[in-house]
Amino acid sequence: MSEILVLVEHVEGQVKKVTLELLTLARKLGAPSAVWAGPGYTAEAQARLAEHGAEKIYVADSADIADHVVAPKAELLAQLATEKSAAAVLVAATAEAKEIAARLAIKLDAGILTDVVGIQDGMVAEHSIFGGGVNVRARVTKGLPIIAVRPNSTPVEAAAGAGAEERVSVAVSDAAKAVRVVERVKEEKGARPELTEAAIVVSGGRGVGSAENFSIIEKLADSLGAAVGASRAATDAGWYPHQFQVGQTGKTVSPQLYIAAGISGAIQHRAGMQTAKTIVAINKDPEAPIFELADFGVVGDLHQVVPQLTEEIAKRK
Ligand SMILES: Cc1cc2nc3c(=O)[nH]c(=O)nc-3n(C[C@H](O)[C@H](O)[C@H](O)COP(=O)(O)OP(=O)(O)OC[C@H]3O[C@@H](n4cnc5c(N)ncnc54)[C@H](O)[C@@H]3O)c2cc1C
Repeated sequence: MSEILVLVEHVEGQVKKVTLELLTLARKLGAPSAVWAGPGYTAEAQARLAEHGAEKIYVADSADIADHVVAPKAELLAQLATEKSAAAVLVAATAEAKEIAARLAIKLDAGILTDVVGIQDGMVAEHSIFGGGVNVRARVTKGLPIIAVRPNSTPVEAAAGAGAEERVSVAVSDAAKAVRVVERVKEEKGARPELTEAAIVVSGGRGVGSAENFSIIEKLADSLGAAVGASRAATDAGWYPHQFQVGQTGKTVSPQLYIAAGISGAIQHRAGMQTAKTIVAINKDPEAPIFELADFGVVGDLHQVVPQLTEEIAKRK
């Protein structure tokens, strides 16, 4: 069976959930081979990848990979794809992995599909576009398919793979070393789940009214164990940090539940949340476009509705 290379997303040695989603998809397409680029590989990571179907695990943890930005990872994948005659390369549709995928596509003169939400037989990728109103199916017709899949779009299924480890040394070119990482600053992590991986996201928009008022959004999120998101209007106003912006120029989320409070539903916001499984909108304007997309809507003032909702959830715990 042909190998399907899966670029592993990992932080401090922990395999991120999206990688397990990619392995689940890869099993339907061929024999999944996980590619670990950078430091932090452990026996625990190996076990987790094998439990989710990785037949092989290629480990490239040289300083060349760790000390430079994305270019060496693209060279690593290009080398492996050629050596192993891989049938496809799957990466997460994160900002970094999409850049790696784009560089890889140039190197291999191959086609690339990004922001994919599913892959069917025959390597046909599914996209959800225009606010979820249109589903597109696309297939790479030139070279090896390189596919970037949105986190949270595939349910994880465990299935044992051999997990055979193979150390890989890659001859990183001077060009790929042109940009060097000079410092790493650890992001302060709160108790909330990571926005792009969270099962529930509660987002606030201009209707929240101020930075202080975002505390009601945070309280609702905490009552549900959710991540907090924001519209661009809210982040541009300085009410919430930019890293939590959802949308075309922010993060793409695909949770089980997305609650939009005081968000009108502009196309650029929808672009980042339209694939959420269930969408709940709270807006005082019954004509707000977000209601066209919402599964459930509450017409009302969020300053009354959100605290009541939080209180009700607390009672039911
Ligand atoms: C190139 C480009 C990229 C962009 N990228 C993004 C992006 O990534 N993400 C993004 O979000 N936007 C993005 N935008 C901006 C986008 O077009 C909208 O301007 C933005 O999403 C609006 O944010 P909002 O819904 O919070 O604000 P508004 O559109 O002003 O809507 C506020 C809503 O809150 C409601 N409201 C007000 N008060 C209350 C209350 N007390 N209770 C309940 N409801 C209330 C109003 O009825 C209204 O519907 C982009 C725009 C461009 C041009």
